[in-house]
Amino acid sequence: MVENLQRYGIIKSSKVAETMEKIDRGLFVPNGVQPYIDSPMSIGYNATISAPHMHATCLQLLENYLQPGMHALDVGSGTGYLTACFAMMVGPNGRAVGVEHIPELVSFSINNIEKSAAAPQLKDGSLSVHEGDGRQGWPEFATYDAIHVGAAAPEIPQPLIDQLKTGGRMIIPVGNVFQDLKVVDKNSDGSISIRTETSVRYVPLTSKEAQLKE
Ligand code: SAH
Repeated sequence: MVENLQRYGIIKSSKVAETMEKIDRGLFVPNGVQPYIDSPMSIGYNATISAPHMHATCLQLLENYLQPGMHALDVGSGTGYLTACFAMMVGPNGRAVGVEHIPELVSFSINNIEKSAAAPQLKDGSLSVHEGDGRQGWPEFATYDAIHVGAAAPEIPQPLIDQLKTGGRMIIPVGNVFQDLKVVDKNSDGSISIRTETSVRYVPLTSKEAQLKE
């Protein structure tokens, strides 16, 4: 899978290739789901695990903000796949934090991570997954060098902007049916620069009730 993504020019970074090789996507999908084809897959609860090329794209956009020792927040952490990749990149002296509002997915992701190469970091506390409304971020470990939002918001939640470190970067899909993957940089003077990377289709960043009713 990683070799194919490299062949098609999606993965250009050797660090990202190495990380996605270490964190086996096969450990993060429900039984019966094909892990290694380049497509999003249902994980129940009206949620999906993103396609491998989207995971790769987000990791590359955030690579400079996932250096050893840095802090990363994964909002809508779902299967825990990207949270585990973040933990591998920031290492045991950094911090990778997942926030997910479906309690069953929080338990699922913790089980998945325990089987993966990121398991030691779950033990030492440099990786953690929490149940909560990710629109509020996770203030306990703020500020973050990197914030990834894995569900599409109608607009960028202010608490996430507040919890982004000066000099940090957030990747967030914004929109309803048609969504843009936005790259949000917090400049040294505290101002925000936003650009559009590509068009995407993510599940909505919403309330638990609205998600389960869909
Ligand atoms: N990056 C994850 C994507 C999962 S899909 C992966 O690849 O596995 C998006 C996730 O966002 C779902 O698990 C959904 O339950 C969660 N979600 C949606 N709205 C949320 C909210 N307000 N707070 C926390 N999680 C949310």
